[in-house]
Amino acid sequence: MRRKIVAGNWKMNKTFDEAEDLLFGISDELANNSPEEVSIVVFPPALYLELANDVANENNFFTGVQNISEHESGAYTGEISAAMISSTGASFAILGHSERRMYFGETDAIIARKIDQAIKHNITPVYCCGEVLEERESEKHFEVVEKQIGQALFHLTKEDFSKVVIAYEPVWAIGTGRTATPQQAQEMHAFIRKVLAAKFGETAANETPVLYGGSCNAANARELFANEDVDGGLIGGASLKASDFVKIANSF
Ligand code: PEP
Repeated sequence: MRRKIVAGNWKMNKTFDEAEDLLFGISDELANNSPEEVSIVVFPPALYLELANDVANENNFFTGVQNISEHESGAYTGEISAAMISSTGASFAILGHSERRMYFGETDAIIARKIDQAIKHNITPVYCCGEVLEERESEKHFEVVEKQIGQALFHLTKEDFSKVVIAYEPVWAIGTGRTATPQQAQEMHAFIRKVLAAKFGETAANETPVLYGGSCNAANARELFANEDVDGGLIGGASLKASDFVKIANSF
């Protein structure tokens, strides 16, 4: 059975006290309503990782970061390496998020190097792919996603690929309140699995969790997660409220 995952990308939000409130809020909500067989991951700003790891360890969820350096170590001011993240106990990294591509110039080649770093240091990469509105409207979305997947993941061995999680995040749905329909999500997830099967084989493709991200919330998660190829969600805005986030995690 494929792993089900609900992951919360906090982006650049929350002061320390607010982060503490949110983490304890999640742990309180989970105490009342903990989903079975769903891995819950929170991605706070990296400087709150120690706190997040303590709360996560006690409450059976995981932590990760929103970015890592493509470099191993050294003179890269402001960067945080995969080895550093791993040494804190965090175990996931969001890589290739559209905001990193758009605002920080990350290409698939750079992202591929970050994925290598993550895997080398036992961090599960959550690789984000997805088309912008113009690409969807001109019906290039399948082509775009296939290319993103090929360029960032196809250099991996089968064994390393088995450590990857994919998040399909149509850019037009991120933070816009405009969610992909369950049909659009299912259609793209099935396509992603087909692309993965052609490269890594049916078994690997069937075992890879493919999450949906883009204005997924407590009201629409259930109909999105009900689809055969949707294995959970990468949640932005709705992960900033503990009750909504845990409700989403209970939406299978
Ligand atoms: C995201 O940034 O990964 C995301 C899915 O954001 P939102 O849920 O706010 O659309």
